[in-house]
Amino acid sequence: MKRDGKPALGEEILRKLTVREDLTTMSYAELVDDFRSMPNLEEFKPTNICKVDPRNGDRVIYSPMRARRPTELKPRRHVTVRLERIHCPVCEGETTGIIDVAPLSDGYTFINKNMFPVVSYDFPGDRQPVTYEPAVEKRKLLGTYSQGGHWLQWFSNRHHADLHNMPVEDIEVVLSRLAAFEGFLLSAKESNMPAWTDPSGKRNYGFVGIIRNYGSLGGASLAHGHMQITHTNIIPRAILDDRDFLAENGRTFAEFMTSENPSYLNIREFSGGLRLMVPYFMKRPFAAVMAFADCEACSLHQLDAERLKGLAEGLHAVTRALKVILEERLERSFSYNLVFHNGPSGCLYMEVLPHSQEWGGFEHMGWFICQATPAQAADGYREAFEELGI
Ligand SMILES: [Zn+2]
Repeated sequence: MKRDGKPALGEEILRKLTVREDLTTMSYAELVDDFRSMPNLEEFKPTNICKVDPRNGDRVIYSPMRARRPTELKPRRHVTVRLERIHCPVCEGETTGIIDVAPLSDGYTFINKNMFPVVSYDFPGDRQPVTYEPAVEKRKLLGTYSQGGHWLQWFSNRHHADLHNMPVEDIEVVLSRLAAFEGFLLSAKESNMPAWTDPSGKRNYGFVGIIRNYGSLGGASLAHGHMQITHTNIIPRAILDDRDFLAENGRTFAEFMTSENPSYLNIREFSGGLRLMVPYFMKRPFAAVMAFADCEACSLHQLDAERLKGLAEGLHAVTRALKVILEERLERSFSYNLVFHNGPSGCLYMEVLPHSQEWGGFEHMGWFICQATPAQAADGYREAFEELGI
């Protein structure tokens, strides 16, 4: 109803809806009765199940019926399409010098510097002052400086080539160059980055961050497919969580997931024992974990050819499935983040995080209200795989 041309709830309706004028005159039992008398409560009832992320204690509550709210936001495909219409500086050669290039079945994959880096080198090579990040207790450090480099690996010189549409053999080439770069950075003693020892006894230097953002809702500023790589003295908190998980439980998070995640939520196994899983504590619809069963590698460059092949197969399959799930099932844009848990975490695993639900205030408190259950997500992946013949 509008009054003075401005929208408002009319006083007459407000009066009609009023059950009590002063809530302090109610007993708690009356409050509960009033809550339970809500029409349609049965239909929109949450599951009342709470799961806990064993790495950091995040709480997850499942309430799939909230996805059916009539005002639920559904950022549709046009968001990604808009990014596609932006002029591509990479295709125009308006980018930085290339430090690695390898041929694909069609075109080339290459690595260059990020023109807008998150960190940079203020000191030359071995004059970088070391910090103590690998040994740090994550909450007891007030602050430090951040140093290092930031590069981009372009999947292909072909603008549209990406994980969901490239041949698996080409993705293997991309991953093998990424692994070689990671190994190069971690072996760079002269970087003077903080040193740490991996389970095989090898000394490593600094932290190599590997992520990718796809789609503008995933944080990508360019549509031309790429991975981001950093070499820093700073370690993300999630890696410190993984390290602490190992110290507290005597096994890595990857070992824990490949042995304890309920079998119904394990979607598929690829070459080298790579398992695609919906975690039992899934925080956002269709968020998935990929980890190798019986694998002691803690860095990408420690994977053998069979496991790299499995990772290429897995990334191809999961991104193809997500495109169908996000665009056709959820009517959202195809956007996701891919993060590698590697290095000082003590084990290697990957998380695939589709942009399937917004964050609200609860999520910023480590309390996730998830609009699909893990079992629904597992079913959704199986259906998409079947439809795509994967
Ligand atoms: Zn391009």
